[in-house]
Amino acid sequence: MAVNVNKEECIGCSACISTCPFGAIVMEDDKATIADACTMCGACVDTCPVQAIIKEVEQVTVAINKDAYKDVWVFVEQVDGQARNVGHELLGEGRKLADAMGQKLAGVLIGDRVEHLATGVFASGADKVYLVEGAEFKSYSTDGYTAVFTDLINEYKPAVILMGATNDGRDLGPRVACRVGTGLTADCTNLGLDEQTGLIAWTRPAFGGNIMATILCPDHRPQMGTVRPKVFKLPQQDFSRTGELVRVASSVSSQDIRTKLIELVKVCTTSCNLEEAEIIVAGGRGLGKPENFKLIEDLAAVLGGAVGASRAVIDAGWKPHFHQVGQTGKTVGPKVYFACGISGAIQHVAGMSSSDIIIAINKDADAPIFKVADFGIVGNVVDVLPALIDEFRKVKQAC
Ligand code: FAD
Ligand code: SF4
Ligand code: SF4
Repeated sequence: MAVNVNKEECIGCSACISTCPFGAIVMEDDKATIADACTMCGACVDTCPVQAIIKEVEQVTVAINKDAYKDVWVFVEQVDGQARNVGHELLGEGRKLADAMGQKLAGVLIGDRVEHLATGVFASGADKVYLVEGAEFKSYSTDGYTAVFTDLINEYKPAVILMGATNDGRDLGPRVACRVGTGLTADCTNLGLDEQTGLIAWTRPAFGGNIMATILCPDHRPQMGTVRPKVFKLPQQDFSRTGELVRVASSVSSQDIRTKLIELVKVCTTSCNLEEAEIIVAGGRGLGKPENFKLIEDLAAVLGGAVGASRAVIDAGWKPHFHQVGQTGKTVGPKVYFACGISGAIQHVAGMSSSDIIIAINKDADAPIFKVADFGIVGNVVDVLPALIDEFRKVKQAC
């Protein structure tokens, strides 16, 4: 695919320049020229009064028997023999899709001695579990997991694959998709079935969160996507459910894995585990200076919660990126979210609005964060936070 300007036709009117959201059109010698920044979105094509902008689409004929691909799969990611919540969240959503498609739901478990996790996968709605075990899968490796997942797809041909948009899922998903020659919609915020085609409708923010794009994968199989943790709620587990356990022998050996895990250094405790936290205390630029961020950490410690931050705080270097909540950070859904000195920009709210209770502290009574907050305190964070910390400490001591 390419977008080009027919220089013979171009009359140099410059009308196309302002329509390009990426600033990819420049005038050279009174003719429009498309620069490398072009994403081929096509927004400029219709604005040209003389049809000088041409979007060339290469037609690719794909010889694929789509009927051979069946069932919805969920990659149930595990760490140290414990399944991550996102796998169960996706099983809950995958169950709905599989039912609507009249197909089966399967969980994929890869690891070293992880068979015990199958019970929970069935309880979350799966009809089948594909189980691949081996010492070489004890910890995640790009080479090992990509090879084994690709083999599973080639052998069993699923129609749909859901993965968590975690560090590992974001690494694995695109590699597997590329190996099997299909596409992948990353970081979805909603899933559904397209009424006309029966394809999965993958919804995700686009153009900096200004629009929600719904993407279909009509020509290739499987249809693949990653979904952020906490976008969907955990399903109600039913431990009376059971299903078919399919043990798959892997041909991957430790020689096939080019990276070796030498040492695992845990840089964080519970304070960083934002995606699974029940309480999050998040701080923004309103704290004024990095030293004041200690108040956020103190309140989180008293409440046994995790520490979050706005992007302004991350950009200022007060906290590392893994604390960032929002569109370009983590999506969280705790029971209680404290937003302290955070304005409530749309990109921040996108990552925390599904919290059960939002408590905002801001000195500006008109701050947008109060529109999404359940409880609001108008005041200076530097005064309010120590008072809250004291009160919660007293309550804890009294318990
Ligand atoms: P500010 O907007 O500066 O707000 C500070 C707030 O603190 C104000 O409301 C002020 O009234 C209040 N305040 C000031 N002093 C005090 C005080 N003493 N006591 C109490 N309140 C006080 N942002 C994110 O957070 N996460 C993202 O993932 C993210 N992704 C983005 C992606 C894109 C493409 C873009 C363009 C932006 C993104 N942003 C993101 C940035 C976002 O638009 C905001 O700029 C950012 O969230 C602002 O951070 P803040 O609320 O801490 O700072
Ligand atoms: Fe800009 Fe899109 Fe036109 Fe490329 S196709 S020049 S990105 S408007
Ligand atoms: Fe040329 Fe068409 Fe752009 Fe005008 S709108 S500068 S004619 S390409």
